[in-house]
Amino acid sequence: MRKIYLLIITSFLFVPVTFSQAPQSWTSADMYLALRKLNVLGSVLYVAAHPDDENTRLISYLAKDRMYRTGYLSLTRGDGGQNLIGDEQGIELGLIRTQELLSARRIDGGEQFFSRAFDFGYSKTPEETFTKWDREKILSDVVWVIRKFQPDVIITRFPTTGEGGHGHHTASAILANEAFAAAADPNRFPEQLKYVSVWQAKRVLWNTFNFGNNNTTANDQYKLDVGGYNPLLGKSYGEIAAISRSNHKSQGFGSAAGRGEAIEFFRATKGDQPVNDLMDGVSLTWNKVAGGETVSKIVDSLVRSFDLLHPENSVQGLVRLYKSLGNLKDGYWKEQKLKEVHNLIAQCSGLFLDATTTEQFAVQTDSVRINFSFNNRLGTDAVLQKVTVDKFDTAFSKSLEKNKNFNFSKTVYVPVEKPITQPYWLARKMEEGYFNVTDEKLIGQADVDPACQASIEATIFGERFTFVRPVKYKFTDPVRGELYEPLVVIPPVLIAPEEKNIISKGSNNFEGKLNLTSKKKGFTAVLKDVGRDKVDQVKIKYSPDNITFEDKNKTAVVDYEVQAAMDNDYYFAVDANNGRKDVFHLGMKEVKYDHVPYINYFTIATVSNRNLDLKIYGKKIGYIVGAGDKVPEALEQMGYEVTLLTDKELAKNKLNDFDAILTGVRAYNTNDWMNKYYDKLMKYVNEGGNLIVQYNTSSNIGPVRAKISPYNFDISRTRITDENAAVNFLKPEHPVLNFPNKITGDDFKGWIQERSIYHATNWDKEKFESIFSMNDPAEKADEGALIIAKHGKGYFTYTGIVFFRELPAGVPGSFRLLANIIALNKKKAF
Ligand SMILES: [Zn+2]
Repeated sequence: MRKIYLLIITSFLFVPVTFSQAPQSWTSADMYLALRKLNVLGSVLYVAAHPDDENTRLISYLAKDRMYRTGYLSLTRGDGGQNLIGDEQGIELGLIRTQELLSARRIDGGEQFFSRAFDFGYSKTPEETFTKWDREKILSDVVWVIRKFQPDVIITRFPTTGEGGHGHHTASAILANEAFAAAADPNRFPEQLKYVSVWQAKRVLWNTFNFGNNNTTANDQYKLDVGGYNPLLGKSYGEIAAISRSNHKSQGFGSAAGRGEAIEFFRATKGDQPVNDLMDGVSLTWNKVAGGETVSKIVDSLVRSFDLLHPENSVQGLVRLYKSLGNLKDGYWKEQKLKEVHNLIAQCSGLFLDATTTEQFAVQTDSVRINFSFNNRLGTDAVLQKVTVDKFDTAFSKSLEKNKNFNFSKTVYVPVEKPITQPYWLARKMEEGYFNVTDEKLIGQADVDPACQASIEATIFGERFTFVRPVKYKFTDPVRGELYEPLVVIPPVLIAPEEKNIISKGSNNFEGKLNLTSKKKGFTAVLKDVGRDKVDQVKIKYSPDNITFEDKNKTAVVDYEVQAAMDNDYYFAVDANNGRKDVFHLGMKEVKYDHVPYINYFTIATVSNRNLDLKIYGKKIGYIVGAGDKVPEALEQMGYEVTLLTDKELAKNKLNDFDAILTGVRAYNTNDWMNKYYDKLMKYVNEGGNLIVQYNTSSNIGPVRAKISPYNFDISRTRITDENAAVNFLKPEHPVLNFPNKITGDDFKGWIQERSIYHATNWDKEKFESIFSMNDPAEKADEGALIIAKHGKGYFTYTGIVFFRELPAGVPGSFRLLANIIALNKKKAF
């Protein structure tokens, strides 16, 4: 097991980078497929809970063999999972997974949708899930997507009956089945009917599964072979699925390609069971649209006459088809096929329409230069008429010659009113279980809107078309080649408080630092009075209190001192020393990985201060980084000196200098070299040290006793997902509950997401002491969240308590408890 695991991890490093945002020109085979698709009027929506739940093989087959409009509605963005490639958690992980899913869909041909639901972490039952998701809101999102997408058939990955395990899984099936009727009912969510109409799908099918020990398939279910080979694409659907699924890199889902027969099983949970086909009873042709026969005939002749070497010869016919579609009565399929034909006209024409910048950022109150590059590569009859970006437009009447570049640039001003490029679901403060989105029309949308779009109008065979292209940041990386990344609108100054949570001991006076970064030349920032959540007489002193930046991308540090009387949350802002005194109050976060586009989002510059009754004992901490977490920063806030220990440092350092050594989350899962230091760490403990092991997962780890601990214990999958679960103190007199902080029930108030994961089990009862027992509702108590053994003169601790979540969230009890674990070896001779 261990070897396989390592192989997967290392393979990331050598996987060629497939991501590219460059404008993709279709091959003639893609165009031929898209032409044939024009005569298919069917749609399927797949519904599940997370990025990775979707059946990519089935989606590839439906989109590329059946040529249905195929969508995947993932209720969440996968914010709560474990991240195998970095330390991003929560909304940042959701941002990465959003892009991974979009990459997967570019491969398998599906369209991506999300609801507002937040992936708050593991949940054992749908009831628990619905206490956090607002059930009615998320149902309305599913209904909205169904009414917009109008699927003939809805497919769920999971059943409503719990075999899917995770509470989110079951909840996704419950909502999809409920939405089947609700979407068709005008009395349900009538406010949506301003924009969409009611929709009755034909049936809901559960795509049953065989996940090894969990087999829900049966012979009386409807069976479909999706293992075919598509010669136009040179791949089987299993091969396409593997490439698609391998985009889920943050989950380590590099997948092997499947070839040969591949049977999918289905059971109807709403509507009738299919007998001959998934789409039994659904008309899939133009016959269902009044006047559609003419369209169908034009498409047939376009397919027959398509010339692989000269797709441009089809353009005139496509323009005729476009006009013919325009004459139909308005409706779903008219709108849908107009879009497809529009796309085909651009692709068959060989038109290259590029709008790019050489800067990643368009800065409010500054200007940005946009470079346009057009090329009529196949010499279609095309006359450029007009180019519009925001408020700027230019008229032309220029015939685009065959394979000649037409380049020009334009500098545009970015007014302060131009919205920053914030993912819409992060624009407002979120609730615990869902994102706040006020604009109904945005619901379901997968990605952030582009900061700037160029509309390029051209006459093609006498008909006027507008091609809309996002303006992208384009550059050439010496290793990765030419890259296109999103253009991002940002404020002229960014504010980053150095600390997010400040712990002051004994009073609410505190000090800190702000980093101000200019994104514009010659910008003056004047620090404003600090905003706060609760009313309090606050005195704040800045040094300096105003800064003029000569150049952009310069960072200045401002020291501040606050005198206050209570715990509070503070908001920093600067005003620009201009006539209007524009105010800016945002910081920017960047997430960069090679396999997804650059991710940027904005956060309010805020600091929270807690006057915490926290005593610490000991000073020097060694921290062995595992999969990545923010515990070391929290330890520094608490007043410890933290040294990060890697393979090299562990080899050369004398461990006896450390009052305690902590291992980061999953350190034994992610660092193969931990084995080498077992003896050294045990010697350190034996001589009076204190080794604290945070959770590791049970699945990919060798014999635990030999590798982690001086005494026997195993790691289970037991977790306490209720963050309010009662905590019983089994050993009230134990030092870990008494020194230097007296731990009480109050210390377990205000926790987030969960209590603990991957508990210890089967420990040596002679050696280990268990400190707590806790349980989720309706489950029996477990004592494996925190176990401590004395070994020689020192201590060894294993804990599944989620310090890595609670400390960055500023939960007081988590600081106090961790301080006590660190103080366990207080009698150590110095
Ligand atoms: Zn899942």
